[in-house]
Amino acid sequence: MSSLEKLALVTGGAGFIGSHLCDRLIADGARVIAIDNLRTGRLENIEHLLRSTRFEFIEHDVIDDLPRALSASPLTHIFHLACAASPNHYQADPEHTMLTAVVGTRNALRLAEGSGARLLLTSTSEVYGDPEAHPQSEDYRGNVSCTGPRACYDEGKRAGEALAFDFLRAGRADVRVARIFNTYGPRMQADDGRVVSNFIIQLLRREELTIYGDGSQTRCFCFVDDTVEGLLRLMDSDRAVGVPVNLGDPRELTVRELAVMIIGLTGAHSHIAERPLPEDDPRRRKPDIARAVELLGWQPRTSLEEGLAKTIAWFEDQAMVEPLIATAAE
Ligand code: UDP
Repeated sequence: MSSLEKLALVTGGAGFIGSHLCDRLIADGARVIAIDNLRTGRLENIEHLLRSTRFEFIEHDVIDDLPRALSASPLTHIFHLACAASPNHYQADPEHTMLTAVVGTRNALRLAEGSGARLLLTSTSEVYGDPEAHPQSEDYRGNVSCTGPRACYDEGKRAGEALAFDFLRAGRADVRVARIFNTYGPRMQADDGRVVSNFIIQLLRREELTIYGDGSQTRCFCFVDDTVEGLLRLMDSDRAVGVPVNLGDPRELTVRELAVMIIGLTGAHSHIAERPLPEDDPRRRKPDIARAVELLGWQPRTSLEEGLAKTIAWFEDQAMVEPLIATAAE
C-alpha cells in the first residue's frame, strides 16, 4: 500500500507514545486521524501536526460510541493506544481505566470489523504482573493480582487482549497485539509519576530523588522512537498474527542504578530519599524480545545514555523547569 492510500486512526493520539506515532505516520506520508479524550494526552503534543492537511484531531473518549465520521471513513489502519498508562494516572480513576481497556477496545475492534482496517492493540508488560519468570517471554502467563490497585490496568489489558484474539479467531478483525514495556522520552508528562520523568524533574528542580523501596527493583527502558518503530513494523507484519509481541529494551537496571545514571548525565547534586514501595510493584521486569527480533527484525537502536540525554534536554527546554529552579535557588 502506498503511503497516500494509508488512512490511520490513532486512539490516544495526543498522548506520549501516540503523538510520536502520529509524527512518524505523517512524516511517512500517511493520512492520520487522532482521537483522544485529553485526560492524560495533551494538545501541545500534536499542535504542530494540526497544520498538516493530512492530520485531523477529534476530542473523544473511546469508552463512548465512536463518532459516525469514523465509521464513514475509509480507514486502513487502527493503532489503538488510548489508555492512561502510568500507575498514578490509571489508579486515579480505576473504573475509567478498566472501561477504557475493555469497552474502549471493543469499540475499536468493532470499528476495525466494520471498516476492514487492520487493528494494532497496545497491550503492556503489566499483563505479566509481578513475574516469576525472568526475562518475560510472550508465553509466560503472568502473576497478576486481580484485587490489587494495579488490577484495573493489568486485568483490563488482559481482557482487552482476550477480546482482540477472539475477534481475530472469529475472522471479525485483522489484529496485531504489542506488549509494550517501560518507554521513556520527550513528551512524558511532568506529573506522570514515572521513574524516568520523576528523577529528571527532581534533579532539574534541585529536589530530592524519590526512590521507592530500596531501589533494587529492576526495569528496562526503551526510547520512544524505538517503540514507535516496533509498532509500525508489527502493524505491517504478515507473520506476527495470532501472537502477542513484546516491545522493550532488554537492558535491565535497578531503579538505584537508573538514579545514579541520571545524576551523572545531568551533573546535578542530589540527595536520595527512600519512600515506601507501592503495593504490587513488580520486583523485576525484563522483556524477552526474541519474537520481535525474529518476526519483525526489530530491536532497540537508541542507547539508554543517548535516549536519556535527549529526554533531559527536552525537559530542560520546558518552561516549567526554569521558574522552579529559580525558586529553589532563592
Ligand atoms: N519509582 C521510584 N521512584 C519514583 C517513581 C517510580 O523508585 O519516583 C519506581 C517504581 O516503584 C517502580 C519503578 O520505579 O519500581 C518504575 O516505576 P514507573 O512508575 O516508572 O513504571 P512501572 O514499571 O511501575 O509501571
